[in-house]
Amino acid sequence: MVFAHDLSPADVTQLGRAGVSGFFTEGGGKTSHAALVARALGLPLVAGVQGFIKHIRTGMTVIVDGGRGEVILEPDTEIQGRFADRAARDLVQTERLARAREAPAISLDGERVHLAANVELLEEIPISVELGADGIGLFRTEFLYLERSTLPTEEEQYQHALSALRAMNGRDVCFRSLDLGGDKLPTSVRIPAGNNPALGLRSIRYSLWRRDVFKLQLRAFYRAAAVGPLRLMFPLISGVAELRTVRELCSSVCAELQRDGLEHNPEVPLGVMIETPSAAVIADLLVEECDFLSIGTNDLIQYALAADRQDEHVGYLYHPLHPAILRLIKQVTAAAKRAGKPVSMCGDMAGDPRFCWVLLGLGLRALSMAPRQIPRVKSIVRGTRIAFAEKLTEEILGLRTEDEVEEAVNRVMKERFPIEFTEETS
Ligand code: PEP
Ligand code: MG
Repeated sequence: MVFAHDLSPADVTQLGRAGVSGFFTEGGGKTSHAALVARALGLPLVAGVQGFIKHIRTGMTVIVDGGRGEVILEPDTEIQGRFADRAARDLVQTERLARAREAPAISLDGERVHLAANVELLEEIPISVELGADGIGLFRTEFLYLERSTLPTEEEQYQHALSALRAMNGRDVCFRSLDLGGDKLPTSVRIPAGNNPALGLRSIRYSLWRRDVFKLQLRAFYRAAAVGPLRLMFPLISGVAELRTVRELCSSVCAELQRDGLEHNPEVPLGVMIETPSAAVIADLLVEECDFLSIGTNDLIQYALAADRQDEHVGYLYHPLHPAILRLIKQVTAAAKRAGKPVSMCGDMAGDPRFCWVLLGLGLRALSMAPRQIPRVKSIVRGTRIAFAEKLTEEILGLRTEDEVEEAVNRVMKERFPIEFTEETS
């Protein structure tokens, strides 16, 4: 077990692979990239609980419950027993849900919902397939850059993409282009932090700043697309001009590959991640110039509510059910529908079973999530009538605060889905 004030995604990867059993940090939030990596490795990480570390002593018994975000120091035997019972119950429930993995995610009124996996590491693909993922809806490729002192070569990235496509065996893989910067800092290149890294040179902005790095990645993707169903999406797009610049680079990469005589597929579907409020507001314009949209709520929430997803002091503001977030999502799904293009959600909100019928009611039919969330979300889809979800969503869109919305959502979930519903967040 590792206790720290804060951990970077690279720290978690290294320590996780070295065999630690879990993490507890005073800083950070549950959608920080360090937390996402811990989850990818199947390890609990509880973030943002203040004042514990000074009480920790060598040899102490500590319970870290990643699902409910709880840490208990020196639990007595009664508490230990309670947690052991809870873990056993969770296991039975998880196994029951996993048995339904062959069953399609179809609502009670016959609508098919596409449930895909979010993946950071190749190691997560077998469990994604086992848990019934229809594809990979978000491959966070930057993790290939984080644990090393040199940049990955084009060949390495090509082989990496091929491994993912082969492991998915014909199912769709959606790679997200490099999302470095912010809290994801590789040692191989220097990224100017600026005064506010979350608003600085991160994500697609970094890729457009270091086009040499970006182009190598694009070359690898276009080559891999000749082998299997590959889609590509771009993070943190803030406007149409930026999207056009990215598309021009994609075209020039294809022209280069053609000149080099390298096999590639120039028809890769290109998508925009909706992660900035500006992108959500002009989703109608963006969707006309790309092939699909994917809503990245982890960032969309932090930017729309101006609440740093890593900062425990403003964690109370970071709320997926804030009326502004629900309206933004609705606006994006409506824009995609009008344009007849696919839209999915790949932020953490998509994998929280409590939010599933709200998302269905807001018009989403494709959700991508941490692999372990798929069985629970599928079970809710299979127990939901879309018409019912739409009616309830209409009602909650009339509420004024996130607490009122949460109360309404929890009430329905507890009544209708007592097995899938727990107080935990995903
Ligand atoms: C998001 O922001 O919702 C997202 C999926 O990207 P990441 O969590 O990697 O920033
Ligand atoms: Mg993001």
